[in-house]
Amino acid sequence: PKVKEMSAEVVDSNPYSRLMALQRMGIVKDYQRIREKTIAVVGIGGVGSVAAEMLTRCGIGRLLLYDYDKVELANMNRLFFRPKQAGMTKTEAAAQTLRGINPDVAIESFTMNITTLQGFDAFKASISDGDGTSRVDLVLSCVDNYEARMTINQVCLEMEQTWMESGVSEDAVSGHIQVVIPGETACFACVPPLVVASGIDERTLKREGVCAASLPTTMGIIAGLLVQNTLKYLLNFGQVTRYLGYSSLTDFFPTMDIKPNPGCSNRLCPKLQAAFQRRYNSEEAVAARS
Ligand code: ATP
Ligand code: ZN
Repeated sequence: PKVKEMSAEVVDSNPYSRLMALQRMGIVKDYQRIREKTIAVVGIGGVGSVAAEMLTRCGIGRLLLYDYDKVELANMNRLFFRPKQAGMTKTEAAAQTLRGINPDVAIESFTMNITTLQGFDAFKASISDGDGTSRVDLVLSCVDNYEARMTINQVCLEMEQTWMESGVSEDAVSGHIQVVIPGETACFACVPPLVVASGIDERTLKREGVCAASLPTTMGIIAGLLVQNTLKYLLNFGQVTRYLGYSSLTDFFPTMDIKPNPGCSNRLCPKLQAAFQRRYNSEEAVAARS
């Protein structure tokens, strides 16, 4: 689709003028570039749906949406979906609402499970262009399980694609976001979560009939942190935070850098780490000579 011009002059009815003000005020150099960006959002639940809405309202160029689930009335304690949409697939319901909010965004929906063999290939193909390089600028992981995160990790390592992971705790009062740059930062397999490290099967933790807690507040905050970091990454302003935690009980926001693990269980990861190190060392050498 043709890229629509955003004008800074029309202030009254054009929603883009408030976004273009970021440029006038010197925060962002060229806000228009957002129209050329493509984001894949995997998992259109409590965090992913809100993240997709924020990106839509920011005027992102293209959104790829992935989920296999349907909207349920039990989801109404979260933001975004409406009771009328119960029974629709989350991807279909989200595409409907997002197109209504901003028809300039190109939306592609993929109703599928990314962890099956077929799903893995379809997911990888969907973010690849003709020559096998990635056609997305960033992948946002908004899924709620380890298996799906490991799938995203694998596809992104194979594609050398930067992605951002997000999560909300089962007790709904804390969460985090994490940037994964293949070879440069820890990948999702470099530092296995405690549950996995201790060898407990995740499925045995999810007891039948016992549901995890969830709050629209925590999910909305995590979506906001995720998309804010996405905007900084895409439009080159401020500092992209590699890991940002949120603990609502004490209002604690820890940040850290997680170094890649040379002994990572993923076979591809250490190779990408070595390649990154070679690039880094040669850049250092060039800088030292000049
Ligand atoms: P709950 O489990 O608490 O009822 P939920 O399943 O909607 O809620 P959320 O944390 O709100 O969970 O959202 C996570 C989303 O990620 C869900 O919509 C889920 O369908 C999606 N998801 C999880 N795993 C996969 C997968 N392998 N492929 C595609 N989508 C997935
Ligand atoms: Zn790794």
